Amino acid sequence: MCWSWRGWSGFESGSSARVCSTLSIDIMARHLALQILLVLSSALLVSCDGARGPLVGISSSRSSAGGTLLASAYSEAVSKAGGIPVVIPSVSTREEADAILSRLDGVIFSGGEDVDPSWYGEEVLNETVSIDSVRDRSDSLLARAALASAKPILAICRGEQLLNVMMGGSLYQDIPSQVEGAVTHSHGAEHTIWIERESVLGRLFGVDTLRVNSYHHQAVKQTAPGVRVTARAADGVVEAYEAPGVWAVQFHPEKAIKAGEEKWISLFEAFVGECGK
Ligand code: MN
Repeated sequence: MCWSWRGWSGFESGSSARVCSTLSIDIMARHLALQILLVLSSALLVSCDGARGPLVGISSSRSSAGGTLLASAYSEAVSKAGGIPVVIPSVSTREEADAILSRLDGVIFSGGEDVDPSWYGEEVLNETVSIDSVRDRSDSLLARAALASAKPILAICRGEQLLNVMMGGSLYQDIPSQVEGAVTHSHGAEHTIWIERESVLGRLFGVDTLRVNSYHHQAVKQTAPGVRVTARAADGVVEAYEAPGVWAVQFHPEKAIKAGEEKWISLFEAFVGECGK
């Protein structure tokens, strides 16, 4: 007697030879079915692979009504690069920031308001300085947690300035007022940057200069200990730096991708790759 795909066929046959042959056919059929199942399940795993990339948190800003706000270009860039983007809302405690970081594979600190000058020991310079103290507190908690976790950080625009401040550096509060002969850096102006060959940007693009977008009126002044400047604009303004575990850019590669400059996806791919290590 044996169970086959057709039922209790061996029991019905009445002949021992027939039972044996049915048995071996049934074993073969079961073996084949198992093989098909294995092939199907591995095919499913492959097809789900794109959804199993590193989990990349992205810091957010707040709307005037206090809502969580983030330009879609950030999450789109992470998705295109093979990561899973997660928007991080405002956090208010160290425990909350640590708990979030423990579940992420890397963090992007996004653009937005100016960092409170009191964080680097200065008074507000003039009326151009715009601060959100709730975001400053949230970002500082997340930055401390991220730096302590040693998980990869990609810092963009405000994020670049924030990380420099959190690591002990300072900022120009207003480039037009403080940097003589400055090129236009605000409102989406485009300008050239000169990059170090021995840097993430240098290795990715293999060139000495790049054209970048520019949406900032502040910039890194005193670099924090451990920060190595890897790109500057014609006026000397810091446009990219690297520190252990930190890649920072003053421009917006995610916005450039959205505007059709596909080459910038390679920066996100490299970062997502770091997050997956
Ligand atoms: Mn710029």
